[in-house]
Amino acid sequence: MDLRYDTFFIGGAWVRPATGRTITPVDASTEAPLGSVPEGTEADIDRAVAAARAASDDPSGWAAWEPARRAEVMERLADAIDRRSDGFVERVSAQNGMPVAVARQLETGYPSAILRFYAGLARELSVSDTRPGFFGGSIEVRKAPVGVVAAIVPWNFPQALTMFKLAPALATGCTLVIKPSPETVLDAYLLAEAVAEAGIPAGVVNIVPAGREAGAHLVSHPDVDKVAFTGSTAAGRAIGEACGRLLRPVTLELGGKSAAIVLDDADLDLGRIGEGLFGATLLNNGQTCFLGTRVLAPRRRYTEVVDAFTAFAASLPVGDAADPATRIGPLATPRQRERVESYIAKGLDEGARLTTGGGRPAGLERGWFVQPTVFADVDNRSAIAQEEIFGPVLAVIAYDDEDDAVRIANDSDFGLGGTVWTADPARGAAIARRVRTGTIGVNRYIPDPAAPFGGVKSSGLGRELGPEALAAYQQTQTIYL
Ligand code: NAD
Repeated sequence: MDLRYDTFFIGGAWVRPATGRTITPVDASTEAPLGSVPEGTEADIDRAVAAARAASDDPSGWAAWEPARRAEVMERLADAIDRRSDGFVERVSAQNGMPVAVARQLETGYPSAILRFYAGLARELSVSDTRPGFFGGSIEVRKAPVGVVAAIVPWNFPQALTMFKLAPALATGCTLVIKPSPETVLDAYLLAEAVAEAGIPAGVVNIVPAGREAGAHLVSHPDVDKVAFTGSTAAGRAIGEACGRLLRPVTLELGGKSAAIVLDDADLDLGRIGEGLFGATLLNNGQTCFLGTRVLAPRRRYTEVVDAFTAFAASLPVGDAADPATRIGPLATPRQRERVESYIAKGLDEGARLTTGGGRPAGLERGWFVQPTVFADVDNRSAIAQEEIFGPVLAVIAYDDEDDAVRIANDSDFGLGGTVWTADPARGAAIARRVRTGTIGVNRYIPDPAAPFGGVKSSGLGRELGPEALAAYQQTQTIYL
């Protein structure tokens, strides 16, 4: 792959960058360069915000359209994305090492499904109601679009996480500046082409790949009305602080260290639960924010659970992300591999027992591979149980009874995902309700467009997805008539 772009998508046109700086994405499986794109600077961000502002302020423009008319355009965009499925799969998986089998499900079909879900909501959207006042008279309550949205996304699920923001923003009549992460820029150009083909009015969607300085400039730009961020907790805190000073609405989807609670009645037959377990614990090479990477096992079945997870992790084929048989590809960057390897070393130092993995797979000299790794005898207060590793590393922690399992699950700075594994779904749901987390599954986990997704504690603020997420892209105006 050698894809070269020399423009940004701003104001509905392909616009030359302000400087000659470039980003060179690299294939995570082979370390080969994949092409180049311009790197956005503050001047490029300024132009993109100006285009979004003008589109937002146009009195007969996008924000003023009937929601049903916006829905039609959103469905055209979903079709244009679907027509580019193969391109999205190929580009995302080369850049960040996501196995193509995962990318096909989650980086093309899933984003267009989210868009169609929000197009459906837009059709039913009521943007104003008039009600009798308590003191008499009548009152109109309007839900106006919040305005210009800064959407900042990470590299792990670049298209899905862009769509978590783009779809509700389009449904409500907002305009956006999207800043993709420098590691995943090539897929953003496919999205820009789809936006152009779908006939979304000029300036509604602007895309500027750039690094964190340009991102920080975008967050604080005076013409931005709302910030939607997904990424690390450290960056989320910096962005939250900036938005706090500006009193600017912000949603933050941050890191996680969720618990996979295995109850004493759980079915551990990998033939039956392997697929669900994969999605909930090791999806995308462990580079998924909601994964249950702390496996909580009942003491009386501890050995059995450790053996099952060990066999499961060891059975997953590791290889080039482009190979359809690959379940675990490389990590996205050399820095990411260093981070994961430093946690594996820390786990050993802390006295945890390695039951599989722990090193680099044989025969894969190029690419940033790490073997799927399981640690047993892990203390929940240790670094590998408390800090987000963001790689294919699981820690199995013993518990005494249900209360102890809930206590350990909640003994975390994070609260994003989680799962309960049990033969009794009602018992699983009762335990799930006691876990302090934004989302949790019983015997399965996949963020569904129909329901809110997001975290508590250091995992973030606010929710994306579901009809509930529309409110983050609207502001309420009351008119006393
Ligand atoms: P990151 O925070 O370094 O970068 C994310 C994005 O923010 C990138 O586009 C980056 O350029 C930009 N950025 C970084 N600092 C910024 C700043 N101060 N101002 C403005 N923009 C800034 O994270 P990453 O390494 O790209 O992604 C991995 C992290 O993301 C993990 O911690 C993971 O848990 C988290 N994540 C969370 C979710 C979720 O929904 N909760 C989803 C995916 C990833």
